[in-house]
Amino acid sequence: MKLDAKAIRYLTSEDFKVLAGVETGSRNHEVVPTPLIVQLSGLRGGSGVHRAISNLAKINLIAKVKNAKYDGYRLTYGGLDYLALNGHQKQKVVYSVGNQIGVGKESDIIVVAHSSGAQRILKIHRLGRISFRTVKTNRDYLRHRHTGSWMYMSRLAAMKEFAFMKALHENGFPVPEPIAQNRHTIVMSLIDAFPLRQIAKVAKPAKLYSELMDMVLELARFGLIHGDYNEFNLLIKEEVIPDADGNVADIEDAHDDQIKLTPIVIDFPQMVSIDHANAEMYFDRDVNCIKRFFQRKYHFVSDAPGPSFKDARKNFMKNPGKRLDVEVEASGFSRKMARELEKYMDEVGANTGEGEGDEENEDDSEEEDSEEEEEVNEDEPEQSSAADESAQRLEALEISGSSEK
Ligand code: ADP
Ligand code: MG
Repeated sequence: MKLDAKAIRYLTSEDFKVLAGVETGSRNHEVVPTPLIVQLSGLRGGSGVHRAISNLAKINLIAKVKNAKYDGYRLTYGGLDYLALNGHQKQKVVYSVGNQIGVGKESDIIVVAHSSGAQRILKIHRLGRISFRTVKTNRDYLRHRHTGSWMYMSRLAAMKEFAFMKALHENGFPVPEPIAQNRHTIVMSLIDAFPLRQIAKVAKPAKLYSELMDMVLELARFGLIHGDYNEFNLLIKEEVIPDADGNVADIEDAHDDQIKLTPIVIDFPQMVSIDHANAEMYFDRDVNCIKRFFQRKYHFVSDAPGPSFKDARKNFMKNPGKRLDVEVEASGFSRKMARELEKYMDEVGANTGEGEGDEENEDDSEEEDSEEEEEVNEDEPEQSSAADESAQRLEALEISGSSEK
């Protein structure tokens, strides 16, 4: 499901009030009855509200549903996207929307811009998307949940990711700067870098490898395990080191030794505490993902065995950093929310790790669309980085109806 922001500028403030009414009604109605929408929109009934309803339905922000007893509407992902975008626009976080640069299993990644022109990343969490299409055994279970769940779970994922990114950023970890969260979306700084997956050659694999392992240990020292630490979720900045005279060569002309690689970690919805019941499994899996990738791609095998969970715990006991797992819990992403999200991810198989699109996971790709398959095909032309894509024109939102009168 792609974000199409084009129609947003034609929506009036009445349309947004009605859309927000459907959202509110969805909290306890699978199908929100039309009279309730009228009531929740806070507008006086009459042709205006009904015009707004049919407008919203026409552009698929709400969908008409007939249930056994009455007719009504439900909010679509598109409708939720528009509510979130409208929120970001009002907070002056997002001014225009550019290209979609990634379609993950459970998210869409879009380049957006602030009114200053600064480019940012909008990550839209879409839990439930892949699950419905590919995890057949879970369909019945999911069908019987109340419809709010995909919305709620996606919002939990966004809250969790934002809370962890904030704690990590504040404590000096190399992660994007978290800027805002609204519903199922977060806005963060754009990292001008390629995922490790796309870095064909590394001059000193041993150095990068040990930096990545140090980072796993450092995270653990702060009470955290990433849980999806792999070649897709590590962006590698390539910078040319200035020479003795302070001149910086063009990256294309630079010698391998002149290029400094800096890893940036992204993607935090599956992070767990070092006290988690399966902490050791997650930790080992993170270490092994990197180990396997370096072996396969760079033919690099470290002499030292990878750090073990025991090493990590020892480190953590002897010289603990701030407990970021505890800090996040206190920040509003509660233990109860963490449990709900984890349970959902376990049930739909979103927590299996091993990297999205990893060869070993291809058995569940039969129903995925071609975009997702492109990501796993090494023969495909390389994807461009977020910054390349964003050079293309950004679509200004100019949400006409969103300013309160
Ligand atoms: P998912 O949960 O779907 O895996 P990610 O957060 O890992 O989503 O993002 C998917 C891809 O989008 C990344 O592999 C990366 O290429 C790109 N991306 C995500 N965040 C950023 C960012 N802040 N800056 C630049 N590129 C990003
Ligand atoms: Mg990812």
